[in-house]
Amino acid sequence: MSRSTTALTCTLTLSIILHAPLALAKTPVATGSGGAVATISEKASQSALAILNKGGNAVDAAVAAAATLGVTDPFSCGIGGGGFMVIYLAKDKRVITIDHRETAPSSFTPAVFLEAGKEIDFEKAVASGAAVGVPGTVRGWHEALERYGTMNFKQVLAPAIDVANKGFTVSETFSHLTRENERKFQQFGSTSALYLRNGKAVTAGTLLRNPDMAKAYREIAAKGQRAFYEGPMARAIVDAVNQPPVANGASVRPGKMTLADLTNYEARIRQPVVSTYRGYELYGMPLPSSGGVTVAEALNILEGYDLKSMPRANAEHLYLEASRLAFADRNAYLADPEYVDAPVAGLLSKEFAAERRKQIDLKRAAADVSAGDPYLYQQDQSIPLRPQPRPMQRENAHTTHFTVSDKDGNVVSYTFTIESWGGSGIVVPGYGFLLNNEMTDFDFSGPRPNVPEAGKRPRSSMAPTIALKNGKPAFTIGSPGGSTIITTVLQTIVNHVDFGMPMDAAINAPRLSERNGATTSVEPGFAGSAQAQALAGFGHKWEEPAEEIGAANAIVFNPDGTVTAVSEGKRHGVGTALVQKRAH
Ligand code: GLU
Repeated sequence: MSRSTTALTCTLTLSIILHAPLALAKTPVATGSGGAVATISEKASQSALAILNKGGNAVDAAVAAAATLGVTDPFSCGIGGGGFMVIYLAKDKRVITIDHRETAPSSFTPAVFLEAGKEIDFEKAVASGAAVGVPGTVRGWHEALERYGTMNFKQVLAPAIDVANKGFTVSETFSHLTRENERKFQQFGSTSALYLRNGKAVTAGTLLRNPDMAKAYREIAAKGQRAFYEGPMARAIVDAVNQPPVANGASVRPGKMTLADLTNYEARIRQPVVSTYRGYELYGMPLPSSGGVTVAEALNILEGYDLKSMPRANAEHLYLEASRLAFADRNAYLADPEYVDAPVAGLLSKEFAAERRKQIDLKRAAADVSAGDPYLYQQDQSIPLRPQPRPMQRENAHTTHFTVSDKDGNVVSYTFTIESWGGSGIVVPGYGFLLNNEMTDFDFSGPRPNVPEAGKRPRSSMAPTIALKNGKPAFTIGSPGGSTIITTVLQTIVNHVDFGMPMDAAINAPRLSERNGATTSVEPGFAGSAQAQALAGFGHKWEEPAEEIGAANAIVFNPDGTVTAVSEGKRHGVGTALVQKRAH
């Protein structure tokens, strides 16, 4: 029997689809006291709240929410991927981060995405075993719980196991994303069996169960992270990467991952990127995510302008130009710090920002700009890296971001992903989770800092952020959306801090994403608006993607001691914000 037929046979029983009523209205904003949570999934927010109500802390609740998102939002995140968690520890008054980014298998070389010296087709690279990095999520959750949590895997995975077993109602957004992925999913028997019916996407209103994922979670609950990185589940992952469970005669590039790649995987506890902006102290994600450094550089540039007293269009023009400059530097210099000596100190210096600010024309949008010289602004002159500009490589977006706080003041801001919607498209047979395609976040050709190498982590854009004011948490923010993550976080901070918008308005405002291109990405319908016309006067040009940009979640710690959890009020089918004790 061929491998594809075997995979199909053992996964055909994966899910039972029944019709169920559609969910009631969701609550994207909630104010009250005690712990708070904002996620894009109602069930995930409920899981976090259940753990908080059982006495768990923000870290426990974050793992519970993440595991549930892996069930209800499996195309954007899950144990087949990786992520970045930023944690504020109230007792110690400090912020730490957990990098559990996927790593390149030991077989990787800079030529892995080249054929006869040419970059291979991007979509072909995505739907392949070769795109799969060694997953870091379970190891990240383990470190979070062991070091900073109060509960164990068994306790925090229980709500997600329940959702996977009982099922959840497929939303219009979920069904739409499955439709978008039909062609990718059709190539894999295990994936078609779980998410397609006769080759077509599951429809909204159906109840979708995933007993295989419940089994994977139960094994982790019983044996800890080793259940994932050693033994039968590790073997199943390696098999799915090296001999993808193809269907319909699909031709898919295999990967080369070993069991040792899995057993050797480590998460990293890293110091956050710390920057200041108008009286706030911002804590963001360091390399291998470019998120923290790029947001900080753009804000340092913007700090030189009195945005709040300017006409809105002038201030937004400056936001776009600061983002453009910061992206030029990001693209030239940033990559995995264990492989590349990136000039982070220079990029973060206020003096460097002042130099970059001189490039901005107050009245006119620049075309694409070149990278600055951050080495002039730092002590460390070792191994200067030649800037390696390249246009933005094609990338797909998605991912999920959420945030949790507890009654003791601990705070988590967490972004995790399997890279593209639906990752590589490969569901691990028998375990019900999709494998990432994170390796396509590498630049396919070099010489560039972010080329593929064995054991390296591809540069990310994830930017989970926690802001403090006067030494206390003030707000959290983060979003999915590939490299637009950086602009969504940046724009939301500007909306909230400079324009004084309440966080829900700051999140719901139209998003503009300038990443040093000829055009600025905007959301459908924006181009004809008065805001767009005012900005076009500065020479900005728009590119409207078919999709909305990002799906942010935030918590605001109000001066009166209450907390406000805020999710999307319009995008991604509306998110769910919950607090332990609601204010009336
Ligand atoms: N792979 C992307 C990154 O790490 C995130 C995926 C997305 O949000 O689209 O930056």
